[in-house]
Amino acid sequence: MLEPLIDGHGRAIGDVRISVTDRCNFRCQYCMPAEGLPWLERSAVLTYEEIERVVALLAAMGVHDVRLTGGEPLVRRELWRLVARLSALPEVHDLSLTTNGYLLERQVEQLVAAGLKRVNVSLDSLAQDRFFAMTRRDSLGAVLAGLEAAERHPELRPIKVNAVALKNFTEAEVVAFAELARRKPYEVRFIEFMPLDGDRNWDQSQVLPNAEVRRLIGAVHPLEEIGRARSGTARRYRFADGQGEIGFISPVTEPFCGDCNRIRLTSDGKLRTCLFSVNETDLRAPLREGASDAELERIVRDAVWHKELKHHVNEPGFVPPARSMSQIGG
Ligand code: SAM
Ligand code: SF4
Repeated sequence: MLEPLIDGHGRAIGDVRISVTDRCNFRCQYCMPAEGLPWLERSAVLTYEEIERVVALLAAMGVHDVRLTGGEPLVRRELWRLVARLSALPEVHDLSLTTNGYLLERQVEQLVAAGLKRVNVSLDSLAQDRFFAMTRRDSLGAVLAGLEAAERHPELRPIKVNAVALKNFTEAEVVAFAELARRKPYEVRFIEFMPLDGDRNWDQSQVLPNAEVRRLIGAVHPLEEIGRARSGTARRYRFADGQGEIGFISPVTEPFCGDCNRIRLTSDGKLRTCLFSVNETDLRAPLREGASDAELERIVRDAVWHKELKHHVNEPGFVPPARSMSQIGG
């Protein structure tokens, strides 16, 4: 065990998001341009051995929660092999995956066998035409099949469904999503649209504030607040009649930076201390140049010490990061 990983504001880091690829088989409007983005060379992407080494070091410093993401993590070949390596690390307590769900049905068996504990599936519409409009892929059926496949594995709980809330789009379906959370063992969470889109078109007027989503749902199915999720990001509510649970992640209208205990590793090995960081710290070069664990630890501690106090999305002069969500790892 090493000393805990602490930032300059006294926050102990406990959670890392690892992007395993910048590639994706969807083209969600709020994330990627229709034509995609220039993909990284394969040699630029960390190998599973390299990721395992970084995670082992972080876990020894108290980073016990690991989430695999991307791009679309399930397009990376044999992701279960990475899951098996990471789940074998005793200090990794929670190993989860964020996916668009398209390839989940065919991979879930192997992922669970390899030790995956939880899954978050992104799903922005329950209607085929609207799903297509948002993702630019006609794949609602495959995603729902992926969710059903996850449901058949009781080891994978809770199952979370994440919907990005967009003004003049999501309102029409918030009650349908609430009813999904009541009908199924899924915790549905609404995420506010952030300025991390590949097209660089974000502006405040496209954000559907979660307070409005709550109001629309509450008018049909009254809600009661339960509190904050363990990670601090989601405000959780149950339905007043006790059937189902729903969450709201509101980085734009109700930032939760004060409690942020998270760092990120991009697929090309850059450590990021905030989604909105404009600086990154390269771990790939030292990894490939033979740095010792002590050297890597020093680089990581130094980067984390400078973790941003908060993001500045709501302030004049806000500068979005150079990379968009799929390149960072959401
Ligand atoms: N491809 C996987 C997926 O879609 O779940 C994992 C990567 S994706 C970048 C991770 C999460 O980021 C998804 O839930 C997605 O909806 C969300 N996301 C992408 N762009 C976003 C944006 N501009 N604002 C808010 N959330 C966004
Ligand atoms: Fe791909 Fe996920 Fe971005 Fe959609 S949100 S384009 S599925 S990376």
